[in-house]
Amino acid sequence: MTILDGKKISKEIQLEIAKAVNKLNSKGKKTPHLAAILVGNNGASQTYVNAKVTACKNVGFKSTLIQFDNNISEKDLLIKVDEINRDKEIDGLIVQLPLPDHINSIRITEAISPLKDVDGFHPINIGKMALNIPTFLPATPAGILELIKRYNISTSGKHCVVIGRSHIVGMPMSILMSRNSNPGNCTVTLTHSRTVNLKNITKKADILIVALGKAEFITSDMIKEGACIIDVGITRVRSKYTKSGWKLLGDVSFDDIKNKSSYITPVPGGVGPMTISMLLLNTLKSVTGFDS
Ligand code: NAP
Repeated sequence: MTILDGKKISKEIQLEIAKAVNKLNSKGKKTPHLAAILVGNNGASQTYVNAKVTACKNVGFKSTLIQFDNNISEKDLLIKVDEINRDKEIDGLIVQLPLPDHINSIRITEAISPLKDVDGFHPINIGKMALNIPTFLPATPAGILELIKRYNISTSGKHCVVIGRSHIVGMPMSILMSRNSNPGNCTVTLTHSRTVNLKNITKKADILIVALGKAEFITSDMIKEGACIIDVGITRVRSKYTKSGWKLLGDVSFDDIKNKSSYITPVPGGVGPMTISMLLLNTLKSVTGFDS
């Protein structure tokens, strides 16, 4: 069994990005600049955005954090998005989700220029992804692809089962694993809360990608011997053994499964750290293009 060390790979990627920024600078080219919009004071969102801004700094990007009160109107938010779309200084724009209930997040996502949509959530970019046209890929699925690639895990002809069909993880993941590319070329089964006999399906998976948000949902009786297990889930639970009083659990019962799997991602330290690196990679590509 091999543990897929997302923390280590993520550091490697960030070093590569920092080198690419130095190269851009030495050629007198533009330093990538990411703008992040944060609405309200959701603690988790604040943590995620701060981590993204810090990561930008670490690789040498410019970043701008724009914060609004919870009561900003949808119209005013759209005006800001439009302003950033037209700002030549800014290359990538993310609007941290979730947004307050009175703001239609689909309308906001659609308003972001597809050329600056480094989250890869715009319908045009989702369409390009499905057609295998180079574009910004959603960060979490792209991070999983990168982990699979860097550990040389063979995917062609394999049965990949994805649990969860969210627009940010499960749905794009299923498309990426079925594309005619490497990693890819899997036969994919996409499952969700209405799936009947889930266990019968997961037991047939060569590669199982779990993104449903229920702590330790997948147990060893649900997987095939030698399967590759990718755990996307993050659930914070109380713990008396940690200093903070909290710990993070994945959707997979790690200790129960690890010896039955061929590869497995830990939580934390697996998929999570890859997500920010992929956002940085998308921001770099917003300057260099998709060929490099
Ligand atoms: P989400 O939007 O809540 O979607 C959950 C999906 O799981 C839905 O499609 C749902 O089906 C499905 N589901 C729920 N219960 C199920 C069951 N019993 N059997 C089969 N499918 C079931 O979640 P998400 O945003 O994709 O996130 C999933 C998890 O990944 C969360 O723990 C989140 O914190 C984590 N996450 C981690 C990262 C990272 O960087 N590591 C990034 C994003 C998310 P329906 O569609 O039928 O409701």
